[in-house]
Amino acid sequence: MSIDWEKEVAHRSDELINDLSELVSINSQRDIEHKTSDYPLGPGPAKALQTFLHFADRDGFATKNVDNLAGRIEFGEGNDAIAILGHVDVVPEGPGWNTDPFEPVIKDGNLYARGASDDKGPSLASYYALKIISELKLPTSKKVELILGTDEESEWVGMNHYMEKETMPDTGFSPDAEFPAINGEKGIVSFLVNFPTSNTGLVKSFNAGIRPNMVPQSAKAELDLSFGNIDTIKSAFNSFLNDNTEIKGNLDITDEVATLEITGKGSHAMEPFNGINAATYLAKFLNQLDLNDNQKLYFSFITNELHLDFAGSKLGIQNTDDVMGDLTMTPDIFEFDESKANILLNIRYPKGDTGDTLTEKINSALPDGVTATIEGHNQLPHFVPADDTLVQALVGAYRDHTGDKETEPFTVGGGTYGRILKNGVAFGAMFPGDENVMHQPNEYINLDKLFKSTAIYADAIYRLIK
Ligand code: ZN
Ligand code: ZN
Repeated sequence: MSIDWEKEVAHRSDELINDLSELVSINSQRDIEHKTSDYPLGPGPAKALQTFLHFADRDGFATKNVDNLAGRIEFGEGNDAIAILGHVDVVPEGPGWNTDPFEPVIKDGNLYARGASDDKGPSLASYYALKIISELKLPTSKKVELILGTDEESEWVGMNHYMEKETMPDTGFSPDAEFPAINGEKGIVSFLVNFPTSNTGLVKSFNAGIRPNMVPQSAKAELDLSFGNIDTIKSAFNSFLNDNTEIKGNLDITDEVATLEITGKGSHAMEPFNGINAATYLAKFLNQLDLNDNQKLYFSFITNELHLDFAGSKLGIQNTDDVMGDLTMTPDIFEFDESKANILLNIRYPKGDTGDTLTEKINSALPDGVTATIEGHNQLPHFVPADDTLVQALVGAYRDHTGDKETEPFTVGGGTYGRILKNGVAFGAMFPGDENVMHQPNEYINLDKLFKSTAIYADAIYRLIK
């Protein structure tokens, strides 16, 4: 029997748009200021979850709401289950919208709203895929569990709670990324590098960075002018800015303190080469000045071992895996004053390394008196071979519905829900070459592509469970 999946989607396209419009009208960003015992993340995420589960109740699926933090829609019978992991929370709307981010507008074939592409549209496309398989009464041998999280954009509280309370299948996909599939996710770990502090000297303070996963866009230092000549510093700073036109700088003087600021360009820590790290530039400038020993140790380390070395080769942690690509390293938070002197390094590493191997390599490259320890949670690399039956089924469906025989599954430096599953990948719903509008103002999903991805999901799921 050959099924015209596209036609089945077309029969339900109005209903799909209605459901999506209802879902994106709910502002489901994390809102713990308004949390209650019933709504641990605030009312928005729970309301989006309930609304999604009501669609499934309406259509006759069994559902379970796990404490308003996560939910499950079940289909089919059997001991084996395939998981589909989506999320109903959104990032804050942010500035720059041309329309109300929580009032969907359809224009030029695109539906504009916060969450349209991340991840309400793709999650609902997966749901409609299940609905089609169910309504066609196709014979199946496995169960499908569509599991929805409510805190993917922050700390995964919803999905972590689900894993404590419920059983997570081993195999499946997350419709929250790109086609043909993301079958590898690098390990993610941060190191806090601690330096000896310095009591007095030219540099009073040096600070940059707000998040471990973001390249700092700006950096600031305060200089105590009783230790330096302002005219010399000014002219050195001007010539430094002339030599480095990719950055902007500013110098202010009040009460014997010169405040220096540099602006570069922020970027996601998984692609540090797309940013301009304001802090390593400012450190490089400060390193030219007349510093005391501990200051020199700190700023020369940043200048010589970290500045522009995204592969970590000077730290001795360079690693390239044939399929997962290069290790990337970026120093993202800097704190330097009388009481502390440290740097937070964020590292995305391929197979072959662990938290222990990196700890050893970094510490052996550090100067005497400087130590590095893992800060927070070390997430190991996650990889499913491209010839695995899961990847084959998913990518096969993608190829048959798009004619794209070329684009291969790939590895990213970020973390998706795919890594929750032992045998999990991320699969759609962006197509190769699509503009990535996730987390951006005027986020949208193209409706034809939403329908196409629904057909791909339906065919792919059916291949896995028939
Ligand atoms: Zn997402
Ligand atoms: Zn997101």
